[in-house]
Amino acid sequence: MAAIEPIEKNAAGRRGYSVKNPATLEPIGEFQVTNAEEVREAVKRARVAQAKWARVPVKERVTYVQRALDLLIEREEQIIDVICADTGRGRMETRLMEIIPSADTMAWFAKRAESMLADRKVGLQTLLKMKRMVVTHRPLGVIGVIAPWNGPFVLSVNPTIPALLAGNAVIIKPSEITPFSGGLIEELFRDAGLPEGLVQVVLGDGETGAALVEAGIDKLSFTGSTATGRKVAESAGRNLVQVSLELGGKDAAIVCGDANIERAARGVLYGAMFNTGQFCCGTERVYVVREIADEFIAKVVEYAKELRQGSDGTQDVSAMTWPKQMETLERQVEDALAKGARVLVGGKRNASIEGAAFEPTVLVDVNHSMLVMTEEAFGPLLPIMVVEDENEALALANDSPFGLSGTVWTRDNARGMRIAKEFETGSICVNESSLTYGAHRAPFGGVKQSGMGYVHGEGAILHFTRQVPVIFDRLGMKTEQNWYPLTEEKNDGMGKLLKFFYGSRIWRKMA
Ligand code: NDP
Repeated sequence: MAAIEPIEKNAAGRRGYSVKNPATLEPIGEFQVTNAEEVREAVKRARVAQAKWARVPVKERVTYVQRALDLLIEREEQIIDVICADTGRGRMETRLMEIIPSADTMAWFAKRAESMLADRKVGLQTLLKMKRMVVTHRPLGVIGVIAPWNGPFVLSVNPTIPALLAGNAVIIKPSEITPFSGGLIEELFRDAGLPEGLVQVVLGDGETGAALVEAGIDKLSFTGSTATGRKVAESAGRNLVQVSLELGGKDAAIVCGDANIERAARGVLYGAMFNTGQFCCGTERVYVVREIADEFIAKVVEYAKELRQGSDGTQDVSAMTWPKQMETLERQVEDALAKGARVLVGGKRNASIEGAAFEPTVLVDVNHSMLVMTEEAFGPLLPIMVVEDENEALALANDSPFGLSGTVWTRDNARGMRIAKEFETGSICVNESSLTYGAHRAPFGGVKQSGMGYVHGEGAILHFTRQVPVIFDRLGMKTEQNWYPLTEEKNDGMGKLLKFFYGSRIWRKMA
């Protein structure tokens, strides 16, 4: 049973969707698809609003974000209600996954936006010492945000806040699967008094997303699957629209022989089951060194059996937000079992839940001939493969078309760092369960088929600006050596200068 059903024609003769809570299958509402013409109108409105917003001092822009944050805290329980109904998730998980990181993003950027966007004096190289440079930051214009269903609120908030503070207008296209959570951010900013047109939400499906990329935006921040990422990148390329792509993954955990076994077992399980495995940086496969494998697997199994799956809001693990994902999970488990894997926990649908729920599942005797070790699962599957040593683990971890994130479990930080440096992935945690996305100062971006470009990191807000250098002359002379006329005498002088500056190692150091 799908959690959304298309409506060919609503009362106004328009295409739309009816939406159900995916865990309980209770109807929660309907929405109308925004068509391409309406998307273009939204971009026009955004452009008009943005021209004024760009002239608003950063300090004043911050006040709107602070007010929106006040409202987020005030309305937290109602917001959690909406997100839980859209996703079928538990309340604490929603607070952890959506509310706390969103509040943190708003507070973090609000505090730093002014200094991050301030003009920067930058010293020039020796050859240009007689000049002075200031780098200024200008907004890009209209930013499109296309968000997936697995973090429908936070993954809209995260790019919107720095983009807005940098002086841009933002148009968000939430997933059709979780439309009402995606719409919350527009409401928060409207009630915070933000001028109209600066944060708009266009509800719809892939067609609306595709229309947004083509509608004359200046940058697209896309989070979603690799398959859609490719389409979006093609369209952005055709339209010369800047794009950052945060895509799928198949994150590996490497458990070394000296790991703190209890912490590793709990951390890996949390990494695999958090958000019912629908987490871009979730642990999708584990390589454990043989000497501790039995003890490690026994502990994972013990803790996995304690997980409570349900739909009353108090559960640890929920139903799938996108019921179609069940097909992937069933196919992967069936394929693994046919090739010799064993299920130690779970392994099938949980029929006690109304919606499509897959039991938290632990698999062993797995290898790379199986889909469960190579294809993104995006569900509560934890396949564990026993390896001889950490070198074998690393080689297998790197044997993947994806490279989003990964974890290493060892008591020796030097070993953790050595492995981290050879791990072909965008970010790594040692003895932690994928924290990097939530660490604002951590540059986050996938390698291989997991993405293009970065979000977060020291320059996070600058991803939504054009950096414009302005160079000033210091001396005010009548002319310069390199200006016309280009005489023989000047040419000789330049030749001497070249030899003087770059012909000796000492001067090269001062270049
Ligand atoms: P999809 O790629 O299916 O969808 C992502 C968004 O793109 C949705 O809003 C979707 O709309 C929209 N869309 C679909 N087709 C088009 C199109 N042709 N042009 C423009 N937009 C389009 O991803 P999911 O929603 O299924 O999300 C899960 C995926 O996201 C997983 O692979 C996961 O790993 C990845 N992800 C990556 C993260 C990261 O930071 N790297 C973080 C979170 C998730 P609609 O749904 O309405 O069709």
